[in-house]
Amino acid sequence: MIRRLWWNCPVALALVLLGAIADVPLEAQASRWSVLIRNGTVIDGTGAARYRADVALIGDQIVEVSRRPLDPRRATRVIDATGLIVAPGFIDLHAHLEPLLEKRGATSAVTQGVTLALGGPDGGGPFPLAPYADSIAKGGLGINVAYLVGHNVIRRKVMGTENRAPTTEELDRMVGLVKQGMDEGAFGMSTGLRYVPGYYATTDEVVTLSRAAAAYGGIYTSHLREEGLGLIEGVAEAITIADQARIPVVLTHHKAVGQLMWGQSVRTLAMVDSARARGLDVMIDQYPYTASQTSLAVLIPPWALAGGSRALRTRAADPVLRDSILRGIVTLLETDRGGGDTRRVQFGEVTWDRSLEGRTLADWAASRGVPATPQAAAELVLEGELKGGASMVYHIIDEGDVRRIMRHPQTMIASDGRLTDPGEGVPHPRAYGTFPRVLGTYVRAEQVLTLETAIHKMTAMPAARLGLTGARGCLAVGCAADVTIFDAATVGSPATFTQPHQYATGIPYVFVNGVAMVDDGKVTTARPGTMLQRPRVGSTTPTPLPAARATQVRPRRGSTNLIIAEEIEAAGADITTALQLVERLRPMMLRPRNLTAGSVGDGNLFGVIVYVEEVRVGSVEALQTVMAASVREIRYIGASDATTRWGTGHSNGVIQVLLKR
Ligand SMILES: [Zn+2]
Repeated sequence: MIRRLWWNCPVALALVLLGAIADVPLEAQASRWSVLIRNGTVIDGTGAARYRADVALIGDQIVEVSRRPLDPRRATRVIDATGLIVAPGFIDLHAHLEPLLEKRGATSAVTQGVTLALGGPDGGGPFPLAPYADSIAKGGLGINVAYLVGHNVIRRKVMGTENRAPTTEELDRMVGLVKQGMDEGAFGMSTGLRYVPGYYATTDEVVTLSRAAAAYGGIYTSHLREEGLGLIEGVAEAITIADQARIPVVLTHHKAVGQLMWGQSVRTLAMVDSARARGLDVMIDQYPYTASQTSLAVLIPPWALAGGSRALRTRAADPVLRDSILRGIVTLLETDRGGGDTRRVQFGEVTWDRSLEGRTLADWAASRGVPATPQAAAELVLEGELKGGASMVYHIIDEGDVRRIMRHPQTMIASDGRLTDPGEGVPHPRAYGTFPRVLGTYVRAEQVLTLETAIHKMTAMPAARLGLTGARGCLAVGCAADVTIFDAATVGSPATFTQPHQYATGIPYVFVNGVAMVDDGKVTTARPGTMLQRPRVGSTTPTPLPAARATQVRPRRGSTNLIIAEEIEAAGADITTALQLVERLRPMMLRPRNLTAGSVGDGNLFGVIVYVEEVRVGSVEALQTVMAASVREIRYIGASDATTRWGTGHSNGVIQVLLKR
């Protein structure tokens, strides 16, 4: 694969373009910092130990991370971070962003230190993405977002909620919709196989659709088909999909549901380890709570939900079918989300009876004068679903499993939270508290993780999963200026299952694309956030070149090995753009001094050559993101091919960056 090549071999990088060139001394371009964060303790997301450093931002980029104090006179704004941790902004790999256009500030997320959230989980999300991206761009956002294509969304588009396999033609249409989503910038596909209509899909259907996403470099994240009694089979299915579709997988909000399955994370984590040992790319995300939140409908057997709510009503009116539905609900109450105890089932948001919000199924039974048994409660569950359903909190996860999963080296932190504002029902506290709770409870109080490891699980790991290494989730020169500043001694979440509407504590500053969204503890009205597009990777094999031209290379220092004149004609951009790009590339390089711009040509044709001895891990992905607007194509030409094509003693490969005209 192309990515492995990038960091194994020293690489020379060439920026090729057409146009007149001026000999501009790049080193002389000292700019004024928009923000200087002084005296803080940097935890950079790589998992490395913390260190004291000053951090300078210019616009949406981090431009300095210095162990020596930086001169505050060079900064427009100075923030004193004495005693505080300065970390990359947190990345939430599982976010329910549905109300985003009404909640552009994403306050419940950004106050946790989240600067990038991945929407479209569990098979849901907006589709098509392109018009949605336009709506986002119009008003801006408080955080950055990215999206997955939701399997349930596209299956419903093509087949409604029918409980059957697709025809060949229907499957083709679904593949087409996955490709459309990927073309529109999605980062992969999600499934919600426990939900309708995903539950009706076979593994083969999901493999076929995942292959389409994999062809674009996408990932696959799955709410497993079962998280209770069928958990082991659910994990096995996801691993099969990783194998057959050759796609990177995330077992999302990983857990073992119901007392009968408590402790089974020992087995599921071993399955992940053995899959990885076989070369499959399987990771995990998790929220740090012993309760889940999902619909009331998850307590209804999926067969009864086929065809939608009207079909459910018809079945419920038939005495025989009604009896089967109720028996199914009893089983789910006893062994699955019900956790064997109706006190474990709590109402979150109930549009048809607000007085139930925050109370339990046992409470509802008591108010009706019926016993709180699964048998009696099953009638209430069906009644509630027929009234329009509800959002529920299920207290059915074991603390031991939470900690075991959290400690696993492949586990990332993700909220599964829905954007919310105070006063809106009684949501799961994860919507306000996932990231600060990990830092306050599981790092500081319980010492389940070190602070460095926890930050790694919130930043560089999810960035890598998204192909954004070196661009997001990092605190280094060249990374996006997404920065979260918190007090390790006080960070935490006061949100509870009965009083969830409480913002995180101990996070005084959050910068999104260089703009303060949380400023001295107060949420601002800025909207610097945007929708990110999946980085596009160019062809991995050299493409045929136009006929060579009689041009000569006149490189400045270092770039003696590069002769790229043939490509100049095919590229093209003005020199100002090129020089700006070079400046943006510089921070990504291990040896930025070797990154030089020089002229190429014979008086008519000019270009920029950039030579570096090594490219930092992830630099290519970073390039894709940073330069997406200007780049037509990025090509990698390995050392031997470079030698064949250009002669001379090439010990390096070449990256060619062809700019748009
Ligand atoms: Zn889910």
